[in-house]
Amino acid sequence: MDVVHEWFDVLDRSAEKIAKHTDVPYLEGLVMTADNIVWEKTDPEAIERELQTLYKRLYRLETSAEQVRKALQLSILKGMKNASQPQHQMTPDAVALFISYLVNKFPLKDGWTLLDPAVGTGNLLTCVLNHAQKKYGQAQGVDVDELLIKLALSSVNLQQHDVELYRQDSLRPLLIDPVDIVLCDLPYGVYYDKENAKRFKTATTEKPLSQFLMIEQALSYTKPGGFLIFIIPNDLFAMDNDRLLHAVIQEAGIVLGILQLPKTMFRHADFAKSLLLLRKKGDGVKTPRQALLAELPSFKNREAMTAMMSRINQWFGENFSDGQ
Ligand code: SAM
Repeated sequence: MDVVHEWFDVLDRSAEKIAKHTDVPYLEGLVMTADNIVWEKTDPEAIERELQTLYKRLYRLETSAEQVRKALQLSILKGMKNASQPQHQMTPDAVALFISYLVNKFPLKDGWTLLDPAVGTGNLLTCVLNHAQKKYGQAQGVDVDELLIKLALSSVNLQQHDVELYRQDSLRPLLIDPVDIVLCDLPYGVYYDKENAKRFKTATTEKPLSQFLMIEQALSYTKPGGFLIFIIPNDLFAMDNDRLLHAVIQEAGIVLGILQLPKTMFRHADFAKSLLLLRKKGDGVKTPRQALLAELPSFKNREAMTAMMSRINQWFGENFSDGQ
């Protein structure tokens, strides 16, 4: 068994045992498993021996943070399949890896800071941290969902990352200083808090949309000249009938590009998504001569993907070669 599968096997067996023994869902069992491993515990006591035997298998392994992320991702996917919470959606591996590649294309300096205001399980955030070529300074994640933020905490602890996590509605004021990069796999749908929505320029009175408000909020927590990458539904701008989102983006940011994710990744064309790349305006920030617009080929098609990446590399070379 390779390291990822050995870790998955241990996490999975332990989560199953704990869930069965304490009568909680599998994902809660997974959170308790992570807690056990991080704090060298074997709770609950009644199955202490069995858990000890399992965790011992990990101590002899040399494991990278990225291997732990992959193993956790498998366990979380298993847990989510059996749970009935449709809003629990993890950013898929291929997309998280592609975003990591894009983040490394931005002109970052050691100590760069990062925020994911819809951090969910932390899969996207930790994938980007694991692949970062420049050392990150501060990384922060926020999510409104209690179970997901617990899973994110398990994930950053097991991967030994230093990330501050907050459980709160990200559309309320955040105790966070503006960052160099915001990443967000956007939540989608009507925002429940109509009163709070009134603070936003992108809110229509009838149906304030979380995906619009989150982009507006993210822009105000980005440093001048900072970057933002959103995973957006393909119909995001088509839904902007009153051009409220257009106006907010135009006022505070610059559209660097839109990359359509491969259609093959989605069950139905209506659910297909894209990556929206923005930059916050600031002193000396130049608008690219041309935005980066492309339809990404299937990530499995190596030849087409290599050609696409060289096009993207060229675009970044032309627009950020002076480190600006
Ligand atoms: N990138 C995440 C990952 O890798 O697991 C997945 C993000 S998921 C597509 C969107 C997330 O937005 C969900 O975890 C959901 O709980 C969160 N969310 C929805 N509305 C929110 C709000 N108002 N404030 C904070 N989080 C919110």
